[in-house]
Amino acid sequence: MAKLTIKDIDLKNKTVLVRADFNVPQDKDLNITDDTRIRATVPTLKYILDSGAKKLIVMSHLGRPDGKRVDKYSLKPVALRLQELLGVPVKFLNDCVGDNIKQEADAAKERVVLLENLRFHAEEELNDAGFAKQLASLADVYVNDAFGTAHRAHASTEGVTHFLKSSAGFLLEKEIKYLGGAVTNPEKPFMVILGGSKVSDKIGVIENLLPKCDAIIVGGGMAYTFLKAQGKSIGNSKLEKDKLDLAKSILGKAKALKKEIILPVDHVVVDTIDANAKSEIAGENIPDGKIAVDIGPKTIELFEDKLKSAKTIVWNGPVGIFEMDAFSKGSLAIAKFISGLKATTIIGGGDTAAAVAKFKLEDKMTHIATGGGASLEYLEGKVLPGVAALTEK
Ligand code: ADP
Ligand code: MG
Repeated sequence: MAKLTIKDIDLKNKTVLVRADFNVPQDKDLNITDDTRIRATVPTLKYILDSGAKKLIVMSHLGRPDGKRVDKYSLKPVALRLQELLGVPVKFLNDCVGDNIKQEADAAKERVVLLENLRFHAEEELNDAGFAKQLASLADVYVNDAFGTAHRAHASTEGVTHFLKSSAGFLLEKEIKYLGGAVTNPEKPFMVILGGSKVSDKIGVIENLLPKCDAIIVGGGMAYTFLKAQGKSIGNSKLEKDKLDLAKSILGKAKALKKEIILPVDHVVVDTIDANAKSEIAGENIPDGKIAVDIGPKTIELFEDKLKSAKTIVWNGPVGIFEMDAFSKGSLAIAKFISGLKATTIIGGGDTAAAVAKFKLEDKMTHIATGGGASLEYLEGKVLPGVAALTEK
């Protein structure tokens, strides 16, 4: 990796500013309902404390307060949880910039300080240089561990790097290693599994990965626009009419590049999308009125046969409506199958990660990307400003 990581910098007696992603879900009483994102950054924070840093100042956004103070988006509940997870006192400051904040951070007897929501200031998302400079003035070095916002050039992800030596935390480093490795230097055969509801969401990924991979396996709602483009009957299955020409051109491009695009050959179909709907298996052509909600058994076999030799697999998009148990069989089968292969398995995308979590197979995958939007942009081959801005080794 060409960027500095926290292991490359001397943290002893330094005040370290960390951008974390503590954008956690909360219930209406502001209880944190899932602390995965806080836990994910704990190894980085503990490492900084164990390396003899003088002070650790952590900053994050939460929700979309759009540049003003909105009480329900306060990071205060996060401070309490962070304190429990780190096992050391955390001082919460009720703002992130201003003279008082600098003084309070310096004077705090606690070694760990959490700043109030960055997005209470419009300057954060505008990447205002003065605001970034104020954040930077709090510390000696900067660590970015917020992969979920690395695709945005904000003051806390990009602006601040103009003022401080900047490195990647463990979480960010892992994302770059696996997602970056897959898109730049994958061990072959490299297979991509794409699903989800819409072709339009995945065009960038297809265009970037088609030349790099050996095959793209397509399932989920997006498969039906491709099947329709091939002249198959798709009943009332998901169709993006305005993407039919694009689907045709992608199929043509794949042929020219001698890459396979593998589509479903049978389907689980229903009359209406409902968790209790009676389903049946349809062959290559779907009868009028029927809606495909999952891949069928022959397709599972076909996909497994293609995937079995893979050394690198990127999976983005469930191959059926996995939220309903009855239509989760295809996604479950694929998840189980790839988790048993001797291959690097990389899961990208919010719903795909949720599916793998639902199947309790998270520990069996090589890497599960944490930021849905950021991981998609990485797979599209885009430069993530928050990564690009880090100091070169
Ligand atoms: P990710 O968040 O991992 O990028 P997407 O958001 O692209 O994934 O797609 C996930 C959604 O696709 C799920 O809500 C799922 O129900 C839906 N989906 C999967 N298969 C189908 C299908 N056959 N018809 C309609 N929607 C589908
Ligand atoms: Mg999604």
